[in-house]
Amino acid sequence: MNKLLDNINKGIAELHPYEPGRSIDEVVAEYKPDKVVKLASNENPLGPSPKAAKILSQANNLHLYPDGDSKKLKALIARHELLTEKNIIVGNGSNEVLELAARAFLNKDTSAVMSKHAFAVYKIVTQSCGSKIIEVPAKNWKHALDDFPEFIDESTRICFVANPNNPTGTYNSHEEFESMMSKISSSVLVILDLAYFEYVDAEDYVNANALMSKYSNLLITKTFSKIQGLASLRIGYGLAHPDLIAVLNKIRQPFNSNSLAQHAACEAILDEDHIKKSVELNSYQRDFLYQQLTDMGMECIPSQGNFISFKGNFDAKDLFTSLMKQGVIVRPIALYDMPEYIRVTVGTKDENEYFLEKLKEVLS
Ligand SMILES: *Cc1c(COP(=O)(O)O)cnc(C)c1O
Repeated sequence: MNKLLDNINKGIAELHPYEPGRSIDEVVAEYKPDKVVKLASNENPLGPSPKAAKILSQANNLHLYPDGDSKKLKALIARHELLTEKNIIVGNGSNEVLELAARAFLNKDTSAVMSKHAFAVYKIVTQSCGSKIIEVPAKNWKHALDDFPEFIDESTRICFVANPNNPTGTYNSHEEFESMMSKISSSVLVILDLAYFEYVDAEDYVNANALMSKYSNLLITKTFSKIQGLASLRIGYGLAHPDLIAVLNKIRQPFNSNSLAQHAACEAILDEDHIKKSVELNSYQRDFLYQQLTDMGMECIPSQGNFISFKGNFDAKDLFTSLMKQGVIVRPIALYDMPEYIRVTVGTKDENEYFLEKLKEVLS
């Protein structure tokens, strides 16, 4: 076995597998709490659009391969994004789009630039291509886009930007992003991950349409996993210049997104009401949680997403376990080099109150 494992591609041996949040089933089996509230993975507490849920209950033709080209969904995305179908690639989650880009550009002689405390998948896809990771120190937990151009060298092929970033919840303005773009060679691909853009209320936030029409070295990724409430179906997409989309389409699996996910996403993308409701709930409850945690003496990082990372007078690992025993699943984020912090997803009013009640209990 050792002889075999000696031959794996450079970078993979040092890689740590992504650690997902604990599932409700696991916590029920292990601790048998009366009730479980999962606020660990930034899912929409309202679930998907009822229209998307309905179409899944009518699932048929499961013996047929899905539309390998996601034609209907791409047409709807094109309308939604004011782009053409040639600008779109559908992925098995937006993570797949990140991975395809990495496979297209990264190898052992190259590097990728990303912020410290950025989304974990950037490291995984970079290292699994044997490519070097160049980390840019964050400022006040925020991506220091000003500094990105200095860190880019001749070996750099991809630059990852999460906006807002998970797990910090920080965001970068349109001006900050454009200023960075203007200093980067057009031979470097910039990936702008907008997994949480719907939740942002900052007025100076990036305008994705304006960026798309201006830069051919830009790949924007979006997902149906977060506000769209379809995380379990694994579907997301990338937006870019048609030439780049054509490259990514060449290397993806022929049937990378399944038909249930495509059907549900087609319904979800049209249900503007559901998105509006979800945004309103999140804005209100995010402020509520932030205030309550601050009043308890916690130090919260201001967030533009549907989650808040905070620290306080506690050991994050112990607090995570104590809360789990009480049926509340949150996320310790030591993996992001933030060992003192806990990330909590903004839930419904009831879920947030339950979390706060249990938090007070275990800290008393
Ligand atoms: C959750 C998340 C995603 C979504 O990944 P999917 O593969 O689409 O589920 C992408 N980027 C960030 C920063 C995230 O937090």
